[in-house]
Amino acid sequence: MLSPVGGVIADELRGQVREFLAARDPAAADRLGFLRARFDAGLAWVHYPAGLGGQGISRALQPVVDAEFAAAGAPTNKPERNGIGLGMAAPTIAASGSGEQQKRWLRPLWTGEEIWCQLFSEPGAGSDLAGLATRAVADGDTWVVTGQKVWTSSAHLARWALLLARTNPDLPKHQGITYFALDMTTPGVEVRPLRQLTGEAEFNEVFLSGVVIPDADRIGGVGAGWQVATATLMNERVSIGGAALPREGGMIGAAVASWRAHPQRRTAGLHDRMLRLWADAEIARLAGVRLRQQLAAGYPGPEGSAAKLVFARLNQEISEFDVELSGAEGLRYDDWTMRRPEGANFYGRGPGYRFLRSTGNSIEGGTSEILRNIVAERVLGLPPENRVDKDVPWKDLPR
Ligand SMILES: Cc1cc2nc3c(=O)[nH]c(=O)nc-3n(C[C@H](O)[C@H](O)[C@H](O)COP(=O)(O)OP(=O)(O)OC[C@H]3O[C@@H](n4cnc5c(N)ncnc54)[C@H](O)[C@@H]3O)c2cc1C
Repeated sequence: MLSPVGGVIADELRGQVREFLAARDPAAADRLGFLRARFDAGLAWVHYPAGLGGQGISRALQPVVDAEFAAAGAPTNKPERNGIGLGMAAPTIAASGSGEQQKRWLRPLWTGEEIWCQLFSEPGAGSDLAGLATRAVADGDTWVVTGQKVWTSSAHLARWALLLARTNPDLPKHQGITYFALDMTTPGVEVRPLRQLTGEAEFNEVFLSGVVIPDADRIGGVGAGWQVATATLMNERVSIGGAALPREGGMIGAAVASWRAHPQRRTAGLHDRMLRLWADAEIARLAGVRLRQQLAAGYPGPEGSAAKLVFARLNQEISEFDVELSGAEGLRYDDWTMRRPEGANFYGRGPGYRFLRSTGNSIEGGTSEILRNIVAERVLGLPPENRVDKDVPWKDLPR
């Protein structure tokens, strides 16, 4: 709930949006021109600084602005197409990018003109991300990058990528990594689709062969990539597991709709599970509200890992319930056509699709096992995992 001061600011913001809309009829305006003007007016993401799409005010006020634009039927920036850009690249650039980088990247990112992807995982480095082998070698004021990335969601749509590469193999593995933004149109970048369990290819493998990156596109210091990446990963977990949903939104919404539509399929056992899943989903939603309030007050903490963990568990349990509730119909898969979807849609299509897609939820953005380790160590303060390779130079590690 907004404080009296927050209430005054909320009224002011509503006034700003109405003034903005009075000057531009959303039905008649050019979509891109409208979105660019909204960014320039500081009405894109209000918690970002002035000049970068915001006004430096509390993130908790964003829904006020979004509701006004939605009520007027204004065009959106189609956030589902640029989940990695909005949820991960933008906060990373805002926290660690130079002023020039922020000016160059944030506006087209927010308007959706430039999609971002994440070149972190490699065939030999997923959970143990700091073991990554892609090399970036300095060459004057550029870097030459060679390596292979995998599971890169939306690489086929992306203009830019968040890239982690090893710049010094003689240092312990966490210290020799540097963070870059990579222009995906650079020669030497090859994107190949990877088809997944659902039949679709949301993600890709990406081969980097002698790709030249200007040093101006390095984010953070040389060798400081791990610290920058930690912030990206914390934002990733919040963006996957802590999204704002209405009551009965997300996976539980589909199951509840099916439950209400087919009373003949109910049994006492299913009734009991429906009630427990509904209550769990509501608790997770309310915990998400609290997480976003904490976020509004500062930096995302390890609590985002708990939200992402619960999100994956519930999506899998609820979609399994939904398949069972659908009887024989639930086993019929609607369409196995190879598609390249425009972003991930966990809640789309039929129960079979939702069930299969939910299996990825406990892998993407950090596996549930890894997140349990983080919750144990950094939230509950339990003793850490015994990592023997912490101080060994990367090149001396068994590979
Ligand atoms: C749908 C989807 C989209 C993705 N999108 C992207 C993307 O856009 N960009 C990107 O960079 N990556 C992406 N990924 C990759 C994802 O981040 C990795 O798959 C994930 O980090 C796990 O790494 P891995 O697959 O190498 O598994 P591994 O790390 O090899 O893990 C294998 C198994 O061992 C377990 N394990 C590993 N270490 C430990 C430990 N210390 N303690 C306990 N258990 C452990 C894991 O939990 C897992 O069950 C995506 C993955 C999926 C499924």
